[in-house]
Amino acid sequence: MLRTALSARPEITDKSLVRSFSYIDGKWRAAASGETIPVTDPATGDLIGGVASLSGAESRAAVDAAQAAFAGWSDTLPQDRARILRRWYELIVENREDLARIMVLEQGKPLSEARGEITYGADFVEFYAEETRRPNIEGVTSHLPDAEVELWREPVGVAALITPWNFPMAMLTRKAAAALAVGCTVVAHPSGETPFSALALAELAERAGLPAGVFNVVTGAPATICEPWTSDPRVRALSFTGSTEVGRLLYRQSAETVKKLVLELGGHAPVIVFDCADLEQAVAETIKAKFATSGQDCLGANRIYVQRPLYEAFCRKFTEATEKLTLGPGRDDPDLGPLINERAVQKQEQHVADALDKGAKVLTGGKRASAGPLFYAPTVLADVPHDALILREETFGPVAAILPFDDEAAVVTAANDSEYGLVAYVHAQDPRRIYRVSRALQYGMVAVNRTKVTGAPIPFGGTKQSGLGREGSRIGSEEFTEIKYVCRDWA
Ligand code: NAD
Repeated sequence: MLRTALSARPEITDKSLVRSFSYIDGKWRAAASGETIPVTDPATGDLIGGVASLSGAESRAAVDAAQAAFAGWSDTLPQDRARILRRWYELIVENREDLARIMVLEQGKPLSEARGEITYGADFVEFYAEETRRPNIEGVTSHLPDAEVELWREPVGVAALITPWNFPMAMLTRKAAAALAVGCTVVAHPSGETPFSALALAELAERAGLPAGVFNVVTGAPATICEPWTSDPRVRALSFTGSTEVGRLLYRQSAETVKKLVLELGGHAPVIVFDCADLEQAVAETIKAKFATSGQDCLGANRIYVQRPLYEAFCRKFTEATEKLTLGPGRDDPDLGPLINERAVQKQEQHVADALDKGAKVLTGGKRASAGPLFYAPTVLADVPHDALILREETFGPVAAILPFDDEAAVVTAANDSEYGLVAYVHAQDPRRIYRVSRALQYGMVAVNRTKVTGAPIPFGGTKQSGLGREGSRIGSEEFTEIKYVCRDWA
């Protein structure tokens, strides 16, 4: 194994979790070309290692392995699949501290958020270990006089999973555990910014006893790795989490071979604070919805609409709370870490400059922070005009855009006026209003008087250009199955 600066870090106790090669057919593989992709610590800009940059042919070999392993894995008894998934879950939990430290170094997020993500990611593995034993046959009251009818749920085959850098562990376990539980085999490609978390997960999968070829992790240039998968008819499902732009591309590429698709794409969450809301709670929850993961979250609050009577007080309290947030390298466990790269910082600058140009006011922040080159100060913009870029495009950073509204119908129209439809947050106490607004919002998820809505048992996903399909819950594993209708003559 190529030794990297990451494996020399004293805070990582089990050095064998630091893997630099791709994991294919139960073996760790370097690129035949010897090429690697550099990975840096966003808090410092230091190089922390490199991972193998595989070719298209090497990526296709992962599909060969997954295809060869499919018959055996899909025939494995559910209780045996459950046992292996359960062991994987236990190993993730046992190694939580090392996994969190690896994530902090490559992703930059605060240590307690990284620990939280490991726990959250592990929950999916535990949940789907249990789902393995649920019935996969459904009887149907027969419509024929002399036949019995059943629906069988069967695994689709090889599933390709492509994951982003903002939640490098949980986005992979959410997909992989669901696919593996129903008997699919997997080829996975993690973001080049955060490959070490996925490779550590592969190491633990091997220790848990997943047979060779069942779970493969392939690193390299995204188009080089993924195009052979989208064009390969043996890959029967594609589950992608990432930007809407790349999601559209993969959708087009998958059309030729008519794959099943799950696309978890961008978001542009509105927060609506009505005058009947509990102000303190609305401020505290919106701070979380905006600044968790330094704002680099598809669920991040991108537009905060506050009803006029509460507007000034909300802006004041929200700004005071924002000014208390701490910034620093993730290992020191601040409230906010760095952004992932220079492009992300420039996006904050662009959105702030555009909003100010159009008449918004900066209440705090509005510039880069001194903690390092990729830190941006937690920022509050008030009176943001409706034509500001920040009200349309994902900011994916720590800039809060606040604007006032007067009536319910107008704010619902404004909230729905987006190409995205992932999550919307509502703060109100009037139950009738909560019901009306929850119904009218065109979003896959509506969170009322709280921020945290995710978890293994619920179906996560969006409407419109936030994507297709759901992850988590029973529905998440059904995405990796086909229904076979069997009609048996008993005459
Ligand atoms: P991205 O689209 O740039 O990359 C996501 C993944 O796609 C990475 O693994 C990347 O290597 C791969 N990729 C990039 N170009 C590709 C190509 N041409 N062919 C195949 N694969 C390619 O997204 P990102 O910057 O890593 O993540 C941020 C985005 O992800 C945001 O838009 C965010 O809203 C979204 N996101 C959505 C959810 C959700 O569940 N809806 C969760 C997290 C993040």
